[in-house]
Amino acid sequence: MSGDLSRDELVEQGRSVLDWIAEYLEHPEQYPVLSQVKPGEILASLPPSPPREAEPLERILADFETKIIPGITHWNHPAFFGYFATSSSVPAILAEMLVATLDVKAMLWKTSPAATELEQLVTDWLRQMLGLSDGWFGITTDTASISSMLSLAAARESRPELAVRERGMAGRDDLPRLRVYASEHVHSSVDKGALALGIGLENVVKIAADDEFRMRPDALAAAIAADRSLGYLPLACVATVGTTSTSSIDPVPAIAEICRRENVWLHVDGAYGGMLAIVPEFRSILDGVESADSLVVNPHKWLFTPAECSVLFLKRPEVLKRAFSLVPEYLVTREQDDVVNYMDYGVQLGRRFRALKLWMIIRGFGTNGLAERLREHCTLARTFAAWVALSEDWELMAPVPFSLVCFRYAPRGMSDLECDQRNEAIMHAVNAGGDVFLSHTKLHGRFTFRLAIGNIRTEERHVALAWQRLKEAVEG
Ligand code: PLP
Repeated sequence: MSGDLSRDELVEQGRSVLDWIAEYLEHPEQYPVLSQVKPGEILASLPPSPPREAEPLERILADFETKIIPGITHWNHPAFFGYFATSSSVPAILAEMLVATLDVKAMLWKTSPAATELEQLVTDWLRQMLGLSDGWFGITTDTASISSMLSLAAARESRPELAVRERGMAGRDDLPRLRVYASEHVHSSVDKGALALGIGLENVVKIAADDEFRMRPDALAAAIAADRSLGYLPLACVATVGTTSTSSIDPVPAIAEICRRENVWLHVDGAYGGMLAIVPEFRSILDGVESADSLVVNPHKWLFTPAECSVLFLKRPEVLKRAFSLVPEYLVTREQDDVVNYMDYGVQLGRRFRALKLWMIIRGFGTNGLAERLREHCTLARTFAAWVALSEDWELMAPVPFSLVCFRYAPRGMSDLECDQRNEAIMHAVNAGGDVFLSHTKLHGRFTFRLAIGNIRTEERHVALAWQRLKEAVEG
């Protein structure tokens, strides 16, 4: 027996999959937004050993519906307000089918010229949409976590005197401690990047934030000065546009000025918030980024792109290339000096053809259509924030520069500890209801709800439902 399943099978089952997708996207509310299964329940419902003989696709797809779907938390549900809410979209879903069909490995230009050149094109489209100058080079990666790690690797390579590429870091007493600076609200991916690169968690220096959760430039300057006096090497700084807990915006222009003066590599993490710069009246959120060395934005957060798709922009891509380019004989190509070979800019060799979905999304919605949708999310967030602000027993916990609202239930006279317990109980009650999902953070040590709007199907009625469910949970 050899070969793939038949064309008839593809067409017949493909049609039913497409029907399933269409029905799902039209009525995601038919499912509880947060999966209600218990740990181990899905595993226990499935055979522990693989089938020896082929099973009909029809049966497998039936099991998908009955056994897998109950264990799915529906990120595509319009009342998914947790973490940073995201969603897929029709052009991207079709693109993913084509990508899986072509199964291109976008590593060398030669292994699919269109994959490379489309990546060059769409990352440049995105650059223009964000209002960045034409001095930036874009590369897609799977996640912002990897994009930021690559940026830190480039920062290290921008100091050739360290010779880390050839000599590594272990066992060397000629290397100073390499220091990375980021606000206390930076995403944990920056710590993980430092972990992976052998910089070490201790060397990620957390800079204090102001009352509105933004990095304090004076504290950054002081930390760098203190490190210099100890003989450490200030290597890189990560500023965030749209921090994870509150979506605060670090003062990039002032931070960039310090980094320039101190010869510190500046990476801007705009994984979520940076994307809002495609909306003309919000473009100023990227003020100062032109002075940075790199920027990450995530289409898979706020551009209706299914995971995984992050875009890393670099001013000096040759530094990243110097950090990672390694061409064994079997990957040598005739045209390698004349083209971009994306494998040179990271660890991954085989890379997905991510550019196709971005191309189809940008064309399928148009830059105006995308901007309009992001603008609407911000409007909905402000509407919700106004409800909170007008309500006597609730309070906003942070400004709302994007589409994330941080708030809590805090009736007069209730102690902070009581508030924490009550808010946590409210969250669990709302999430158990199945028609709305919210997540939380802690701000100034206090339990805080995060209502994040980013789903392409979210309308005011979904936001109103969240508010209603929260109030019902208070009443018990
Ligand atoms: N940076 C910020 C500001 C984030 O909020 C997140 C995730 O929420 C990340 C980075 C990590 O993103 P990814 O899941 O693409 O690695």
